[in-house]
Amino acid sequence: MPGWNEYPIPEFFTERYGISVLVDNDVNVMALGEQRRAFPDTRYLMFVKIGTGIGCGIIADGDLHRGAQGCAGDIGHIRVSGHEEAGCRCGNSACLEAVAGGAALARRLTDLGFEVSSGSGVVELVMSGNIQALRLVREAGRVVGEVLAGLVNFFNPEVIVIGGVLSAVHDHLVAGVREVIYRRSLPLATHHLEIVPSRTGADAAALGAGILAIEHFLSPGHIDQVLAGAARPAPPLRAAP
Ligand SMILES: [Zn+2]
Repeated sequence: MPGWNEYPIPEFFTERYGISVLVDNDVNVMALGEQRRAFPDTRYLMFVKIGTGIGCGIIADGDLHRGAQGCAGDIGHIRVSGHEEAGCRCGNSACLEAVAGGAALARRLTDLGFEVSSGSGVVELVMSGNIQALRLVREAGRVVGEVLAGLVNFFNPEVIVIGGVLSAVHDHLVAGVREVIYRRSLPLATHHLEIVPSRTGADAAALGAGILAIEHFLSPGHIDQVLAGAARPAPPLRAAP
């Protein structure tokens, strides 16, 4: 969130309206919604959102893992090999999302003469049977798979869920992701690994945000605070940078 670093968003709303406010990033709440609703028995899950950019929400031992500063899972700026020409909005080059994100694919299709301005435009082209768009999406899946292959060895998830705008064309996208992960990750880590498109789809984020609020409200710490008749609301979560 350029320009918003360190801004106390929850405190701002809490002071103004006198309510508890939780702030989290989109892919974290999507991961939470997907796991609680579609994979309740899965304790280790990665939710990879491929939209304009690329991010990953991590469920570790059944709970969201945010990391020390709230930026765990920020995989969009991991460097991928062989794409030095792809400049990224972060100032580096060859970042995953600058190569395989929806905005990057739209730009490449525009260079090929198609009028595409966003990830949903890319999806429309693929659905209309455009071969070049289809190839680009599959190739994007392979590039995402290259990054995820290392993460699978590192984190050993049971399920990887692919969500976001581009998951609407998941046949091609997930095929590319699977191809590389099953080839490059350790056999022990992939033996029971499922790589699937999102089941909660466009509802993932809203579901997850609701669940985040409910679980916070029903948490032992909050209940204790209510019982103790504390006037002040529970300390809000910190916004991810
Ligand atoms: Zn970058």
